[in-house]
Amino acid sequence: MKYYVGIDIGGMTIKGIVLDPEGKALCEDVAVTGSERGGDAMCDVIAELVNNMLSKCGVKKKDIAIGVGCPGVIDSKNGVLVFSGNLNLRDYPLAARLHERLDVPVSITNDANAAALGEAKFGAGKNYKNRILVTLGTGVGGGIIIDGKLFEGYKSAGAEIGHMVIERHGDVCTCGRRGCFEAYCSATALVRRTRRQMEDNPRSAMWTKYTSETANGKTAFDFYHDDIDAKEVVDWYIKYLACGLANLANIFRPEIIMLGGGVSEQGDNLTVPVQTYVDKELFGGTSYAPVKIVKASLGSKAGAYGAAALVMKD
Ligand SMILES: [Zn+2]
Repeated sequence: MKYYVGIDIGGMTIKGIVLDPEGKALCEDVAVTGSERGGDAMCDVIAELVNNMLSKCGVKKKDIAIGVGCPGVIDSKNGVLVFSGNLNLRDYPLAARLHERLDVPVSITNDANAAALGEAKFGAGKNYKNRILVTLGTGVGGGIIIDGKLFEGYKSAGAEIGHMVIERHGDVCTCGRRGCFEAYCSATALVRRTRRQMEDNPRSAMWTKYTSETANGKTAFDFYHDDIDAKEVVDWYIKYLACGLANLANIFRPEIIMLGGGVSEQGDNLTVPVQTYVDKELFGGTSYAPVKIVKASLGSKAGAYGAAALVMKD
């Protein structure tokens, strides 16, 4: 096996990448997921995507292995997509169906784990052994890589970073619990909090550029220096984020925590203050084993790179 194909399945599109033995990208492509036509139709799309990429970069099928990142609960050991709300699939033997079509080895994992592997191996985490990726998007997801290995938990159902409670009687989460990390630190939660702040404060400067309908995850950051209400939202967000990250830091003590997803686009505006709070809450302080908070670097390509990394030998 000399070449590695990474497939990142999303609700709308499937991204593919072919890496050479050194991990250099030879070819990338995108296809429409089409999972509404069922799992088999989606596998046909993936097979076609793989075949197209291989012929484009002149790689033979016998020289590849395929890694797939997929949204939902994934039994990575048995290659089964246990449940995915996004794709509307349940108990679907994804790895076996792809193997039938392509006749090459196929490994699968959850899309968040794949993104974490991608960032760990090719992105912001590549010079470290213990890294955690936390994605701040529609939800809060991520993956944990300890001693160079992906930590998935029992039946690969673990590492659900977003569903750690940081406010015991807090806001209701999509999962049914109250006060989850995701209920406070997703982009969705940030937007909700921004809108509430605007509605409660009709004189906020945020109204000069946004309405409560157009307010988004950037709104409060945009007005941070000019508007006390915006500053209050950002400070609120940063404190909750730091609480969750400090919990992760204290349990796993990674060398680095990488922030991905839409909110991470704030860069230093986010990582610098969050680092200060995390440092204060780090067990034993920062002198012996500090934990660095950085922005992830691969953006939307992390998943495809990480899927390929899944079948690479270290
Ligand atoms: Zn939850």
